Amino acid sequence: MKMPVITSVWSKVVEEDGRFFSTAVVESTVEFVFKVNKQDNGIVLKGDARLNMPEGFVAVKDGLLKGISLSQPAPEVVLIKLELEHPADFRVEVLPGIPVRTIVSADRGFFEKLFGGKKIIIDPGHGGTDCGHRGPVSLLEKNVVVPIALNLEGLFRQTGAKTALTRRNDDNIPFRRRAYLAKKEKADLFLSIHTRFCKDCNSGGSVVFYNPFSRQGNILARLILAELSQVLKIAARGIGGSSELKMLGEMPAVSIEAVTISNWVEEGLLRSPTIHRKAAQGIFNGVKNYLVFGKGECE
Ligand SMILES: [Zn+2]
Repeated sequence: MKMPVITSVWSKVVEEDGRFFSTAVVESTVEFVFKVNKQDNGIVLKGDARLNMPEGFVAVKDGLLKGISLSQPAPEVVLIKLELEHPADFRVEVLPGIPVRTIVSADRGFFEKLFGGKKIIIDPGHGGTDCGHRGPVSLLEKNVVVPIALNLEGLFRQTGAKTALTRRNDDNIPFRRRAYLAKKEKADLFLSIHTRFCKDCNSGGSVVFYNPFSRQGNILARLILAELSQVLKIAARGIGGSSELKMLGEMPAVSIEAVTISNWVEEGLLRSPTIHRKAAQGIFNGVKNYLVFGKGECE
């Protein structure tokens, strides 16, 4: 039998009858015959094959699948490990064709338990005559925060969380009205989306502000910042209290300055839908970590 050659490995989240799965797809020249092993927070496929790509770790960070590591421990043996952030049921299927696709699907049902019934308000900052900050090549903050918010809404909807956006259009809504909406809805979380502006500096990166009246706001801010900077591969510039967010009472609330619009490199990034998606993923991962780990730290 011909030795399979692994030519590509990639990942995406797929929906099937209303359920969501993190999938890892392994492409090979002929069928890759493997043994599958479930480890602590990981799924390992081991079989006879050659690797036609570099060994190493491919980061995914979709909230469940941290990444895929590829190695060749012996000349004709390949080890593919899916690193999971949380235990998950999974299944493996093989789709014949050119290339042959081996698909590992990990069930994202964990998120439904975690987010089910939670009310989350997403607040794209500024709008209308309030343009927010302006980048060196005239990109406006009010315009880039909306696609980030819409991507974030999509991610939360996959989990069964109830979400509402304070604006979808180019409207100038005073902050007290946004806060009023969140309080009226008795939201569990309030996430305001902004970009960072650094007047006298050239630095890029993210900053997250929190509601000082909320007992766990600082934890939420720290966890979001950590994930954002990892997913976007930009600097974490710290967290801080925000007096405006006090309007939300004790609600855990953050104002996320995801990317620095005054930095010309990051302004360029902000024009790309990929960055809108990644920023949303970073925020989602941070909120997820907060729901998993955050509360225990303080109570
Ligand atoms: Zn802003």
